[in-house]
Amino acid sequence: MKKVSVVGAGNVGATVANEIVRLGVAEVTMVDVIEGFAEGKALDMSQAAPVLGYSVYASGGNGFEALDSSDVVVVTAGIRRKPGMDRSELVSANAKVVRDVAGNIKRLAPRSVVILVTNPLDAMCYVAMAETGFPRERVMGMAGVLDSARMSAFVAMELGLSPGDVRSMVLGGHGDSMVPLPRFTTVNGVPVTELLGADRIEAICRRTRDGGAEIVNLLKTLSAFYAPGAAAAQMVEAVVSGRSRLLPASVWAQGEYGIRDTFVGLPVVIGEGGLKRIVELRLTADELSALKKSAEAVKAIIATLRPS
Ligand code: NAD
Repeated sequence: MKKVSVVGAGNVGATVANEIVRLGVAEVTMVDVIEGFAEGKALDMSQAAPVLGYSVYASGGNGFEALDSSDVVVVTAGIRRKPGMDRSELVSANAKVVRDVAGNIKRLAPRSVVILVTNPLDAMCYVAMAETGFPRERVMGMAGVLDSARMSAFVAMELGLSPGDVRSMVLGGHGDSMVPLPRFTTVNGVPVTELLGADRIEAICRRTRDGGAEIVNLLKTLSAFYAPGAAAAQMVEAVVSGRSRLLPASVWAQGEYGIRDTFVGLPVVIGEGGLKRIVELRLTADELSALKKSAEAVKAIIATLRPS
């Protein structure tokens, strides 16, 4: 059985781990710096197994040695933005955490596929790739699956239809500049543009862009974790099961869509070994320009992290 490690057993990390255990696709271990945290959550998850009828256990601890020989490592470790902390302080604080985690991944799981979740997402992917030295096929970020799921949920709510029938595509960086694509959003194959007026679609795109903030405003001291956890688990499942899936993910662009040397959310095929290929859609001039603008916004953050 494949081995998946989740670094950071907080809200998102524990949700990813629980989802993978529930899917039964891999053995799961969690690592957290807080004494007993990962171990306690793993024990709790394992005790749900007899009730829910799944057969995979989770384990957890404080030491990075648990990452040994992982096939996939999901990185959710980091700090949340505290009151008074500006965005650049968050970037450098989480870059420090991700650098440390990535060094351990390189040492202990040199053949793993790394899936970043820690924010600011696209910039943290860059830190992980630079520190591990892994090829771009094996370092990706989860954001597009979540942002697309949010868009699908809003479309389903608006139409009063099952969310499971809606498929959306959101590209770009994981932030204010993300690019929801209504032309690639369907309800069982029917383009949403056939079902809703332009003003309703625009409102859904806006709510999607603000989806994270909407939840933070409600939860106050926490941020979203059920949907982010499920989204990261979907990417993990594609890698460990080898069932290739076309999903949006943050990847290192090398000329695709005219974008180079930055992580940005693009439609990709994920499967065994990680990134299998980047899918180049024929975007309209407006869509392409929004995507390039979003990539520039990510590049500006990454520039602050490059050695000068
Ligand atoms: P959380 O505070 O609940 O969990 C973070 C955990 O990381 C904590 O348990 C902490 O002890 C641990 N940690 C910190 N430094 C560590 C280290 N060096 N090694 C191991 N563990 C360490 O936060 P959360 O709600 O789970 O969010 C985690 C991250 O995911 C945040 O950066 C958040 O912004 C991000 N996030 C991203 C997305 C996305 O779409 N990419 C969605 C939701 C959350």
